[in-house]
Amino acid sequence: MQKNPFRAAHYLRSAHRLDQLPADAGAELAFAGRSNAGKSSALNVICDQQGLARTSKTPGRTQQLVVFPLDETHRLIDLPGYGYAKVPEKLRAHWREVIDTYLRTRESLRGIVLVMDARHPLKEFDRMMLEFVEATGRECLCLLTKSDKLSRGEGLRVIGAVRKELKALAPSATAQLFSSLNGGGVDEARTTLAGWLFG
Ligand code: GDP
Repeated sequence: MQKNPFRAAHYLRSAHRLDQLPADAGAELAFAGRSNAGKSSALNVICDQQGLARTSKTPGRTQQLVVFPLDETHRLIDLPGYGYAKVPEKLRAHWREVIDTYLRTRESLRGIVLVMDARHPLKEFDRMMLEFVEATGRECLCLLTKSDKLSRGEGLRVIGAVRKELKALAPSATAQLFSSLNGGGVDEARTTLAGWLFG
């Protein structure tokens, strides 16, 4: 079996502001998604480490940029989960601004992983992220996770519908089905992401 480069990921720190991130050199990937979409679970399964990203629902914990280096020059960045109901509008606006600035200015950013619940894709936050992707010309992989909750036919229908919408929203973005529970799509995602990070 091929070695999984993401296994080397480890927690470095949580940043409240962009100037707390590591120096903007080397290469990194950012994981974004609405709260509860399954972002932490996706990070954990891609990195093959159960407890790497916290699958916690506490907003204080998720409203940070969490830095997971793989080595000295390659990193994963877990962007704050978006849309948690109890987060006040002011804080929401703050994170919208932080994410916007990060996506526009971060030179080491090689690509964005947009995690969406396959049963509820392309909500307002996701569309906003795709607008950034389109405007900034970033690579973007949409992981339609919890695909284990769909039948094969439903999965095919969802992926077809999402790909069609992506053509209009952000034609460079791609989408695939994913399941942290049964491992569906995990190898495929790792291959794409390793290509962006190390290619
Ligand atoms: P986050 O808020 O986006 O980081 O979401 P989490 O990773 O914490 O997941 C939210 C909930 O969805 C948890 O109860 C997970 O166990 C569940 N979940 C995450 N991924 C999957 C998946 O692929 N399949 C299923 N069935 N449940 C999942």
